[in-house]
Amino acid sequence: MDPFENSVEQINKAADILGYTSEEIRRLTSPKRVVSVHFPVRMDDGLVKVFTGFRSQHNDALGPYKGGVRFFKEVTESEVKALASWMTWKCAVADIPFGGGKGGVIVDPKLLSATELENLTRGYIKAIADVLGANKDVPGPDVGVTESVMDIMADEYSKVTGENGQQVFTGKSVAKGGSEGRVEATGFGGSLALKLVASKKNLIPSNTKIAIQGIGNVGEYFARFAKEQGFQIVALSDSKGGVYNPEGLDIEAVVAYKSKNGSLAGFENASFISNDELLTLPVDILVPAALENVITDLNASKIQAEVVIEMANGPVTPEADEIFQSKGILSVPDILANCGGVTVSYFEWYQNQHQEKWSKEEVLKRLEEKMIKAFEDSWNMMQSKRVDFRTACYCLAIDKVFLEMRRKGI
Ligand code: NAD
Repeated sequence: MDPFENSVEQINKAADILGYTSEEIRRLTSPKRVVSVHFPVRMDDGLVKVFTGFRSQHNDALGPYKGGVRFFKEVTESEVKALASWMTWKCAVADIPFGGGKGGVIVDPKLLSATELENLTRGYIKAIADVLGANKDVPGPDVGVTESVMDIMADEYSKVTGENGQQVFTGKSVAKGGSEGRVEATGFGGSLALKLVASKKNLIPSNTKIAIQGIGNVGEYFARFAKEQGFQIVALSDSKGGVYNPEGLDIEAVVAYKSKNGSLAGFENASFISNDELLTLPVDILVPAALENVITDLNASKIQAEVVIEMANGPVTPEADEIFQSKGILSVPDILANCGGVTVSYFEWYQNQHQEKWSKEEVLKRLEEKMIKAFEDSWNMMQSKRVDFRTACYCLAIDKVFLEMRRKGI
């Protein structure tokens, strides 16, 4: 299913329950602006190649647009529009003063040399610089974008506009104005959601088996923090497949093996499985932490986990959601489960604005307070409205955004 249609359907469901009119719902679902750019990049062989990129600015009622940039070969305008919309609702659930935005470039960054990647990053920022700004639109990293790419974006923005780029981008290296704790923020936040949902469902960590799809930034840190809490991580994967050991995996060893060999194939003491197999393993908790639309009407009925924690954005389609409800599977929605990343991005932006420098302990402590509040508010909404967890989060977020739009006369 088209990711943007997914996002519209999710908003429609909650906005209907809240009693909004169809025009009001249209206002909430449509992005305010979508910029599409085509820009030249000098390649190592001396030739110039033209790349396509997007920046979608969904809603800025609560504050400047905020959202990552994705470098990925299958980026589409629809995907970027959906991701920007999810950012609006995520920031509202997390209760941070940002709106929703998202960017993307159609590229496989693994096929570029370091110089080509830098040229591409600079080309993209030059092309969209006029829609960005510390109080306008604040990009961060997403799939395929590292902190050194964010440093280049900030540098290019400073060159093009003459303004301080450090205040406009988050996810930078600590040396270039990034925040302590940002690298682990999304995974750490997700592990707090895990702790909270496990306690609501009376799951004892040492008896709880977890399978995680994706061992990138989010999946790796989620796995580390979950293991620290005593949960058993039995499966992990990357784009080529995963490893499974029902007795539990040594996360450090899996990460080290992957970084040495570039793949998980051949990892000892575990069987190699496909990503489809990983999703349907006999586990208690399933954590999609890679890409959207991985759980659909085709595989949802085969899922054995009783809880799904959506660390990726949009991993569950609306059809799969219905199957989950009929099977009694509780899904902690992406806009709640992975809001730790944008919360610490807000902390980074705040520190840059106020020339402050917080320690990692302080960052993670503040994040914990925000996560607990977001989780409990959403859980209470679910019980008071008698709706599923996702719809409850949307109800919370839509009311907050719409109230602010009314107050500002938007
Ligand atoms: P990443 O690039 O660091 O890692 C992505 C992981 O997914 C890698 O392990 C990759 O091998 C794997 N992958 C790619 N294609 C796959 C496929 N077809 N099947 C299975 N695995 C595949 O990205 P990330 O930052 O960890 O982001 C992962 C997800 O979390 C994305 O949906 C992203 O939007 C979301 N997210 C990220 C953050 C953040 O702070 N990084 C915050 C919120 C949400």
